[in-house]
Amino acid sequence: MVEILIKKEACRGCQICAEICPTDVLEYNAAEQKVFVKNAADCIACLSCTYICPSSAISQQDFHNVKNFYRDLEFSVKAKRYL
Ligand code: SF4
Ligand code: SF4
Repeated sequence: MVEILIKKEACRGCQICAEICPTDVLEYNAAEQKVFVKNAADCIACLSCTYICPSSAISQQDFHNVKNFYRDLEFSVKAKRYL
């Protein structure tokens, strides 16, 4: 299962990661003014939170990269032959 790591000292509490997460894995702790992992089991390893975090505070471990070939125009044209 993917492991989400949030560097507490780097988090500035902007909550962008929690807003962008499609599966509501992350939640804001108002008392600490930091985000924490609420539902790790629901993480689909889309890496959106890592990409969007302005502080580079989020990283993941134990996930497999899957190439999003549908975003790669050149590859999509080649794949079309087999559809
Ligand atoms: S996007 Fe980064 S800085 Fe903002 S709340 Fe999430 S972890 Fe913290
Ligand atoms: S990797 Fe995707 S699903 Fe997992 S916590 Fe980040 S935004 Fe949510």
